[in-house]
Amino acid sequence: AKTSGRNRVQLYNQSINQYNYRQVHLENQLNKALEKKEFYLLFQPIYNANTMKIIGFEALIRWKSEELGEVMPNDFIPVAEENGTIIAIGEWVLREACYFLKDLDPSMKIFVNISSKQLNHMLFLEKVEQILNESNCVADRLCFELTETAMLEDLEHSKKALYKLNKLGIHLSLDDFGTGYSSLSILNDLPIQILKIDKSFIQQMESGQKNKAIVEAIVQLSHKLSIEVVAEGVENKKQLDILLDMKLDYLQGYYFKKPSLINTFSVYKRNAFK
Ligand code: C2E
Ligand code: CA
Ligand code: CA
Ligand code: CA
Repeated sequence: AKTSGRNRVQLYNQSINQYNYRQVHLENQLNKALEKKEFYLLFQPIYNANTMKIIGFEALIRWKSEELGEVMPNDFIPVAEENGTIIAIGEWVLREACYFLKDLDPSMKIFVNISSKQLNHMLFLEKVEQILNESNCVADRLCFELTETAMLEDLEHSKKALYKLNKLGIHLSLDDFGTGYSSLSILNDLPIQILKIDKSFIQQMESGQKNKAIVEAIVQLSHKLSIEVVAEGVENKKQLDILLDMKLDYLQGYYFKKPSLINTFSVYKRNAFK
């Protein structure tokens, strides 16, 4: 019994070491990734639920590492937030998004994910203004996506930062709504224009009336507060039909289009000459 116990401990230590090794390796590579130009953006269209026309795109970062292959954001964004590289990475994302905006129809917006570490960074607003100026990007065509957990880290500071961003003309969206621990009053408290219902709710809708009722209640409350609603993660026709009944404003998900390179969209102007 003693031996097997020791073996178990050994195995356990081994897997921890492997995990740590990968994490350290990932972190080392992450520090060089910007310089090595290993990041790129994919774009996923967001549709007007009434017209089914594209109103804009969410920018989603990808990392093609020379050493590690393709690494997904859920694996490296937390590391970047931990070691601070998210500041430079976030800047790169925003600059890139502004650059792509120029080649999109002027009616279209780009939705950019902003980490709480960025929002709470002292120089964030200055940086945003600087990037808007240097790229000649119209602020009104940008929407920043922030999570409720991000805001709750420092609600008063977040609130101030959000008001300033709004003042610049940038739209604000509350991402992953429903997954955190915030109360509904956050909707009334923060200057947000759009709410994104987390895909976990959208995917659970089919499996029960209660889940449907939650989504419906979120939509109705948002509309009463003049907040528009996006459903993310729409994967099939059944979900779509339920959502259309609920009068959501915008839709996004694999059912319509997976995140893709921008030049694969016909609304991207530089395509016209290909
Ligand atoms: P998110 O902001 O909630 O983005 C939605 C995620 O759902 C994306 O995963 C997207 O590819 C995926 N998705 C879209 N439609 C569907 C669908 O129909 N079904 C399913 N199952 N998934 C769908 P992705 O691209 O892996 O990004 C994961 C998370 O990483 C994002 O979640 C966001 O929190 C973060 N992230 C991505 N890009 C950036 C970025 O540029 N900056 C920051 N700070 N975070 C980012
Ligand atoms: Ca998002
Ligand atoms: Ca989300
Ligand atoms: Ca998320």
